[in-house]
Amino acid sequence: MAKHSTDAVPRMIRGSVVVQRRRCGKSSCRCADGESLHESTALSYSEDGRNRTVMLGAAEVAAVTAAVGRYRSARARLEAAGNAGLAALLSRRAAARRGR
Ligand SMILES: [Zn+2]
Repeated sequence: MAKHSTDAVPRMIRGSVVVQRRRCGKSSCRCADGESLHESTALSYSEDGRNRTVMLGAAEVAAVTAAVGRYRSARARLEAAGNAGLAALLSRRAAARRGR
């Protein structure tokens, strides 16, 4: 279970790295005042239309953040390529129609 912080982080990860702040529920804890909340870093992602989170160990945060960034830029490039293809197809159609 503790092993996964030493495993290599995948190159691309879909999701967002978020910092969660919450109370633990113990009335004697410093967090009970609602201000000194516990902070933990997690990966938030959606699956089957639901938002889920998975906690990240301190050792994983930087690599997971980088992998999330790589996924986002790859997705942006894919979307730009797809949009350029669509625009090319549409302008070819428009040119063919004008030529008739
Ligand atoms: Zn607490």
